[in-house]
Amino acid sequence: MTETFQTINPATGEVLATLPIAGKAEVDAAVAKAAAAQKEWAKRTGTERGRILRRAADLLRERNDELAALETRDTGKPIQETLVVDVVSGADCLEFFAGIAPTIAGEHLDLGPAAFGYTRREPLGVCAGIGAWNYPIQIACWKSAPALACGNAIIFKPSELTPLTAIEVEKIYREAGLPDGLFQVLHGFGETGALLTEHPGIAKISLTGSVPTGKRIMAGAAATLKNVTLELGGKSPLIIFADADIENAVSGAHLANFYSAGEVCSNGTRVFVERSILPQFLASLKARTERIKLGDPIDPATQMGSLISEGHLNKVMGYIETGKAEGAEVLTGGHRVTDGVPAAGFYVAPTVFTGCTDDMTVVREEIFGPVMTVLPFDSEDEVIARANDTEFGLAAGIFTQDLTRAHRVIAALDAGSCWINTFNICPVEMPFGGFKQSGLGFENSREAIHHFTRLKSVYVAM
Ligand code: NAD
Repeated sequence: MTETFQTINPATGEVLATLPIAGKAEVDAAVAKAAAAQKEWAKRTGTERGRILRRAADLLRERNDELAALETRDTGKPIQETLVVDVVSGADCLEFFAGIAPTIAGEHLDLGPAAFGYTRREPLGVCAGIGAWNYPIQIACWKSAPALACGNAIIFKPSELTPLTAIEVEKIYREAGLPDGLFQVLHGFGETGALLTEHPGIAKISLTGSVPTGKRIMAGAAATLKNVTLELGGKSPLIIFADADIENAVSGAHLANFYSAGEVCSNGTRVFVERSILPQFLASLKARTERIKLGDPIDPATQMGSLISEGHLNKVMGYIETGKAEGAEVLTGGHRVTDGVPAAGFYVAPTVFTGCTDDMTVVREEIFGPVMTVLPFDSEDEVIARANDTEFGLAAGIFTQDLTRAHRVIAALDAGSCWINTFNICPVEMPFGGFKQSGLGFENSREAIHHFTRLKSVYVAM
């Protein structure tokens, strides 16, 4: 009998669906079906592939509100976010790669009078995408659109905590005319992900997840020397210089910490503030943080919803208690919220720690919840060294009016995705990815083409 699991609405405890767990037989069957479909898909022109992706993008946009509501129920994220970000960014990605598809090409190389060379950008074959639970529909689109544009098939395993919107993406691709087998959703936990990772018929794994899972996948992929793209965790710095517009910087700190209840990989959770503006910054930060409205995320007035699960709530609360025990001071928050929210949900007050030092656990480890640490600094060189003192390198942000300084500091930071005077804005035209232990490779932009194709070099004697 097929094993199953349930997915719940973490904001209310409501059971949303029961789904089958894919085991070895299901993975083998999906890979065989994908491989057969991919052979035909690879023969289509980029224009034909692009046309289907564009149709799917249109269908995503038509169904935006319904998909946003489903995403909110599966993740606990506020509907005011999912309506304007999650589905939109997925549709943008499909549309972007629809346009890119006909332009995927190799190069001609002139090799003197008696020879020339050329390169071919070929699809990899069957790819697998494995998703995290924080941006489920966006992740399904960010992985599938470039894979399909390049002529691959892709099997997608959403997080076991948020499996529902990927199912809708599969239906939309089919309705848009994508041949059967090219985008398949398989459900399950880490074991299903490991089966995909080790499968000899899969050419590539693209993971969005935690650093430990990334390491396991890289090790598992080694047996078949699979190509991997890893989008992993972070503990990113957000640096606020004294000349910054303080209210804009507070807005940036909010964007970098409390959007999606802090469950965002690129969050700037180490907020370095130049000492001379610290009192003014903290006064505004505290007042504005205490105005954030928590509640049932399906309510359009709610600004912060539930964390993803009870286990994650316990992890985040554990970090908050460790922060207090290690001597950090709670400026605001620091507790679970049970008043004014559905009783079965997992709500944590947006929390700001001050009086932090660089060696504290809450400053060093990824918490993945609404927990900000504030760290004063005195000079540019000092803050660069401290910002880089981490094994992560996903993102970084800087607020200053001095643009010469902004570019100088950004150039010195070990981070793959950076912002100046804003945070966490990720348009599909720009590459997104991390350095150091935050990952390997990039998603989005033309750069993604390199991660979903292989290059063939051809020498021609004349
Ligand atoms: P996770 O690593 O626990 O799980 C991610 C996915 O990997 C899930 O689908 C899970 O089932 C699967 N998985 C688990 N063990 C596996 C194994 N051994 N082999 C194959 N697959 C396996 O991460 P999560 O808790 O779902 O997500 C939170 C993490 O994701 C955070 O660390 C966050 O920073 C990171 N994240 C990164 C990005 C990015 O783009 N860099 C975006 C979102 C989230």
